[in-house]
Amino acid sequence: MYKCIACKKITTKMEDTVRCSYCGQRVFLKLRPEIIKRVVAR
Ligand SMILES: [Zn+2]
Repeated sequence: MYKCIACKKITTKMEDTVRCSYCGQRVFLKLRPEIIKRVVAR
């Protein structure tokens, strides 16, 4: 998961493009998917 620093949209698909699909910014913050897995953990 990546978070755009410009419009703060969160995107999970970074395969085809490295640009933000909302504002075109190319700088992202890298988020940890581990936090989400922790919620699903039994
Ligand atoms: Zn953006």
